Amino acid sequence: MLKCVHYKIEELVPKEVFSALDEQQAWALFDDRALWSLDQIWEYFNAIEPVSIVVNNWLWNGSLSDCGFRNKYSNTGAVYSQHRCGRAFDLHFQKKEQIFQSHPKFTPDYVRKTIILNQMKPEFQFITVLEKDTKSWVHFDTRNILRSNGIVLVNP
Ligand SMILES: [Zn+2]
Repeated sequence: MLKCVHYKIEELVPKEVFSALDEQQAWALFDDRALWSLDQIWEYFNAIEPVSIVVNNWLWNGSLSDCGFRNKYSNTGAVYSQHRCGRAFDLHFQKKEQIFQSHPKFTPDYVRKTIILNQMKPEFQFITVLEKDTKSWVHFDTRNILRSNGIVLVNP
């Protein structure tokens, strides 16, 4: 079973899912390609410069709790969102040691551009979709989609 190296399960599921399931069951909600890609993104960008790449932060009393797996009772986003399939993450690039402060270099546009330019690298091989133009997060997912021209950009 694949578990992330750089993320605790609390960072990837909402509090109510964490409370309802044991750890193994919570990891089992995810597509392993999405979990693997999440760790790869962490490593790729941290090799450029140390950065916190936050999914959820409810564990530290932050407001983010629907940015990884999203349960069916949540009103966030689309009914058939990839988040509800465990195949999507919304990433917030923040300054190290300064929780909740966005990183000036790793803007969503910069991150998207970097992933798209480097999509032939093994670390990005399972990313099939990025959302375009979002200003405070980067959404990626590993949905089953025709990708003859590489990563597909979709509207949020
Ligand atoms: Zn998303």
